Amino acid sequence: MLLSAKTAVVTGSNSGIGLGVARALADAGANVVLNSFTNSEDDHALAKSISNEFGVNVRYIQGDMSKADDCRALIEQAGACDILVNNAGVQFVAPVDEFPPEKWDAIIAINLSSAFHTTAVALPMMRAAGWGRVVNIASAHGLTASPYKSAYVAAKHGIVGLTKTVALETAQEPITCNAICPGYVLTPLVEAQIPDQMKTHGMDRETVIKQVMLERQPSREFATTQQIGGTALFLCSGAADQVTGTTISVDGGWTAL
Ligand code: NAD
Repeated sequence: MLLSAKTAVVTGSNSGIGLGVARALADAGANVVLNSFTNSEDDHALAKSISNEFGVNVRYIQGDMSKADDCRALIEQAGACDILVNNAGVQFVAPVDEFPPEKWDAIIAINLSSAFHTTAVALPMMRAAGWGRVVNIASAHGLTASPYKSAYVAAKHGIVGLTKTVALETAQEPITCNAICPGYVLTPLVEAQIPDQMKTHGMDRETVIKQVMLERQPSREFATTQQIGGTALFLCSGAADQVTGTTISVDGGWTAL
């Protein structure tokens, strides 16, 4: 199998896109480390069920990606990290002059700084193993902006910059670093925005989805977590050996506008 004997660490992977990517990597034979800030029975049961489904080793390691020490400890506890998927992310929406400073700090820490800390610890492991892949889950908001999402847009533009820098620092090694830029994917993070958007725009659920949320996504379809998982898998394949320092949009045409 494509990824047998590889270990993949996916941050923020007990739901949504991270879970979709973790499942795709497990399906290709990788052993997987799941992560989130919680430490519940459900988290460990999820690891067991993916392990049973795909016949690979799956562990759940608790770690709060807003904390530098937890980010670094996650990779150390994983013991190996051939594939690092920096996915953990949160969102908050408010005009910049009303944006709570603690929300700004949390978004920058979880969506951007965590990737710096995990990558810093993972790269020496990849070098020792003679192969590595860093896949950063950025966003269409890593390439374009929207009002009221200052911290998120800043963090996602930042992770695209980090991606390019890490790619240049590893360009002559068998290691690549790329960012996937999804448009809207229907996950808990997006689901949580729907009630606010309905209130703001005075619209019902279907109308707010098609006319507001997917207004910039020309396909008018959400991307799926399976599609993001498949894109990550491509980046881990031999076909992508020379793909580094770039962004791959999975956004139904959003950034073509
Ligand atoms: P989600 O809420 O389903 O998943 C977020 C994950 O991050 C969860 O597993 C959550 O537990 C974890 N997480 C949150 N705070 C954490 C912390 N402090 N420490 C560790 N883990 C933490 O949302 P999602 O939509 O799957 O988002 C995943 C990534 O994809 C994010 O980086 C997000 O910005 C990005 N993204 C999502 C969309 C979308 O439309 N859903 C679009 C573009 C980019």
